[in-house]
Amino acid sequence: MSDPSNQTVLTITLLGTGSPLPDPNRAGPATLVSGAGEHHLVDAGRGVLMRLAAAGVGPGMITSVLLTHLHSDHLTDLNDVITTRWVMGFPAEPLVIAGPPGTKEVVDHLLASLAHDISYRIAHHEDLVEPPAVEVVEVGPGTDGPGEVPVPGTVAITCEATDHKPVEPSVAYRFDLDGASVVVAGDTVPCEGLDRLAAGAGALVHTVLRKDLIAGLPIQRFQDTCDYHSSPEEAAGTAARAGVGTLVFTHYVPAHPPGEGEPWRELARPHFDGPIEVGDDLHRVEVAAPSAGSDGGA
Ligand SMILES: [Zn+2]
Ligand SMILES: [Zn+2]
Repeated sequence: MSDPSNQTVLTITLLGTGSPLPDPNRAGPATLVSGAGEHHLVDAGRGVLMRLAAAGVGPGMITSVLLTHLHSDHLTDLNDVITTRWVMGFPAEPLVIAGPPGTKEVVDHLLASLAHDISYRIAHHEDLVEPPAVEVVEVGPGTDGPGEVPVPGTVAITCEATDHKPVEPSVAYRFDLDGASVVVAGDTVPCEGLDRLAAGAGALVHTVLRKDLIAGLPIQRFQDTCDYHSSPEEAAGTAARAGVGTLVFTHYVPAHPPGEGEPWRELARPHFDGPIEVGDDLHRVEVAAPSAGSDGGA
């Protein structure tokens, strides 16, 4: 009798499935990929620490933070991750943040904006003598393949460029652990980099926007968003080309009431044969190595 606890799996937790639009039911963009006792946080949108708490992961348990791009909705709460990990750590391990070029400048400015708070806390707590320890690594595609993402842990992480122009650069991340694999794409239109990175992955987490609803809105600023996001149909096309196991949607624009995501699946279905997860915040998907079989979700 096989013991399921021996299966190597990566677990995806959709922490925040919202977008820039404030939503009482959806935190901002953030996805957790866990495996081998590690927790890698992809993006840090609105409310990320609340959702991490609900998932049983404290700020000190985060192995790395990986930013897909520098749009504000994907990093609004990075300051909360930095500060709370620092204040709640005894002492806190350095926080490693990876992201495309520009990330170091953003983090430096974030730390500068926290300078008053940092000085108050150091003045007040005798055992708090150093400011938050943060290490930034800027990443991008390699010269002839995915780029390495040198963060702590045993899960192998690589990245490729995505296409979210004029937001440049932007990247997607791939996580590999003993045959189990997960790719998390940020905002992007279909592109070669994502096709390459996602090839054969057990699961692809993809942000989606309903162009059938947004394109007709009489507000130019909403219409503008159609040209740098993927529709569910396009995300499904990417999943099919790459031959991924399970397609996981997140970052719904416009957001639907929780539990009413079926129309997204129906739009995608003609373009992808595999399981399509349309989860709300805190939805989990477990991804096993192919030999052990793949579970579509939980
Ligand atoms: Zn974006
Ligand atoms: Zn976004």
